[in-house]
Amino acid sequence: MFVFYFGSLSAIKVSRQRRKSMNPEYFGIGLITLALILGLTEKKLSFGTFRFANLIYVIGIFAIVPYCIWWLWGNNVGPTELTLFVVMFSLTGLGTGVGYHRLETHGSFKTKPSIEAFFLILGAMGLPTGPIDFCVGHYAHHINADKEGDPHSPRDGFWHSHVGHILRATPKDLQGKFGQRLLNDKLVKAIDESKFVWFGLGLLIPYLIAGWPGLLWGGFIRIAYHNHVTFSVNSICHTFGNRPFDTQDDSRNNWLIGVLSFGEGFHNNHHAKAKWAYHGLTWWQIDVNGYVIRLLERLGLAWDVVKPTPEDIQARKKQLKLSPGLTPID
Ligand SMILES: [Zn+2]
Ligand SMILES: [Zn+2]
Repeated sequence: MFVFYFGSLSAIKVSRQRRKSMNPEYFGIGLITLALILGLTEKKLSFGTFRFANLIYVIGIFAIVPYCIWWLWGNNVGPTELTLFVVMFSLTGLGTGVGYHRLETHGSFKTKPSIEAFFLILGAMGLPTGPIDFCVGHYAHHINADKEGDPHSPRDGFWHSHVGHILRATPKDLQGKFGQRLLNDKLVKAIDESKFVWFGLGLLIPYLIAGWPGLLWGGFIRIAYHNHVTFSVNSICHTFGNRPFDTQDDSRNNWLIGVLSFGEGFHNNHHAKAKWAYHGLTWWQIDVNGYVIRLLERLGLAWDVVKPTPEDIQARKKQLKLSPGLTPID
């Protein structure tokens, strides 16, 4: 992941265009410096200072990409590169949210093998992680949310939760414990075993369409941005936001991450009942992944969709208030 960030920044250096506003290279160096300072001082800073600095860093990473597009417009980035970035980001985002997460990890709906394969392949084009590792790690997160055994709880450090946890391989015993269903599924196993082919295809397609600038914006920068959004669900959405449900963990609904992640950031709703196919429970909780599942159902391509009715939501709120120790994985 760091390779993508540094690679993208050095490419920006090559193609930079002088204007009176701040060079995005300095913006990037500032963010990397802040990340290093925060990483080194995490245990020494007061909780409030640390939270504030983290917020600046995470929002800074979200802001740097649109800033670079504006700053470099007409010089290695134009309508083709912007379209590639948006389309590839959207498709791979749906792969992670609809395919890896709601379909494969939680079984929030059922679909045809061709649709399942389509979303899993999109997921593999977005993250350098196969569907089995993703599902196993995520399942362990729900079972042990913010307790011993959670692979990425901010209680073990914000940086560990945001990105540090990817340096640890998923333990094999965890695969056997939570991933047996997936290991026995021929389609999931085949896509998992060929994950680097799909990941490479996610780089080759933008390169074939628009050459090096296409690879940069539709490939490297898109992957870095997408991963930052996914990481933010683990870190930001267990640190900043509101908690309409009294879950036993620190999960929160964060509107910004909710919108950027196509609905995954309404994370307290999701921890309240992991099997719900929709994470946005009000009209203003924009849940693109949920809208896609609704569309699939209308087209007859999804069925057995686990829908949260208003009665279900109220019942779950009451149930969680009475039993705060409940671990709602189903
Ligand atoms: Zn969570
Ligand atoms: Zn989940």
